[in-house]
Amino acid sequence: MSAVVRDVTACLAAIVLAGCSRSTSSETSGRVVVALTIDWEGADVSPGALAAIEQVRRGLGDVPLTHFMSSAYFTKESVDPTLVTFIRSAVHKGDELAMHLHAWRSLAEASDVEPKVSPSFLTGTDEVLAFDHGDDGFDTDLDAYTVAELRLFLRTSRRLLEKTQLPISHTFRAGGYLGTPKVVQAIRDEGYTVDSSAIDHRQLDELEDQTLPARIRDIWPGVSPASQPWLIPAHGGQILEMPIAAFVDYSPAAEIAGVIEAAHARWKSEPGKDVFVVLGFHLETAEDHVGQLGEALANVRARPEIAESLMFTTIEDAAAQARSNLAAAPE
Ligand SMILES: [Zn+2]
Repeated sequence: MSAVVRDVTACLAAIVLAGCSRSTSSETSGRVVVALTIDWEGADVSPGALAAIEQVRRGLGDVPLTHFMSSAYFTKESVDPTLVTFIRSAVHKGDELAMHLHAWRSLAEASDVEPKVSPSFLTGTDEVLAFDHGDDGFDTDLDAYTVAELRLFLRTSRRLLEKTQLPISHTFRAGGYLGTPKVVQAIRDEGYTVDSSAIDHRQLDELEDQTLPARIRDIWPGVSPASQPWLIPAHGGQILEMPIAAFVDYSPAAEIAGVIEAAHARWKSEPGKDVFVVLGFHLETAEDHVGQLGEALANVRARPEIAESLMFTTIEDAAAQARSNLAAAPE
């Protein structure tokens, strides 16, 4: 039997158990809950990236994606006239459109905030990435701005993304994974309830740059690919953190499959309990990396024992499930 046929067979078996599609929360108790996420960085959109993503999505069947979207495509000097159409074709029915923030200079200007482009979270200095379109600030450390300024970025971003006429959730991911206390306070003050920025700094160790992993280690100490949702205190209320288990930009397919295998093993040792796995890739590098995600998922779904434990959903729905689990858990 070919790998493709095996995958389809495993998936069909799992559909019977609601393992290959979205389920209501009452059906999700005791599952390996997988949320697939894509970060739109606000640099460039390309038909090639979208085609690569659609190809992988066809292979995965009806599984939702959570789109963490920077609004800075709308603040470039020259805005692609097909941008809204592009976004609307990428965000399928059942997907979640969530907020992603990189402090692009053009977004600062659109937000009536004085641009402070440095320090870079990649270099730790005022040396920032340059782009052909002339905008910069992609790698600006979000902590360069005050909570009040970050709130202006968030408000402007939401207004810009509303041009898509798609519903925007109250889920957030920070550029550079920099969910600092200031950023968490800003999102809390703007009504966001869920963050998904935490990541194991060791995932980024293979990058030549060492500034970002060190910065992430300080912000998210002790986070590992096995970390499970937790509550972060902020003034006015808590934010639910949905940590990232792996990003395909830094992890080959075998490593991604290993993360799911490990989650399945933890679920088997305590089958009544949900185990959450958040995976990610980026729009701007999708052509190079999204195939790894498809390969990893095909691999684990070809194994019926694992396939039947999997439930794919959005971050918003996974967070609702995690929140009710945390509320029900003994102190
Ligand atoms: Zn990003």
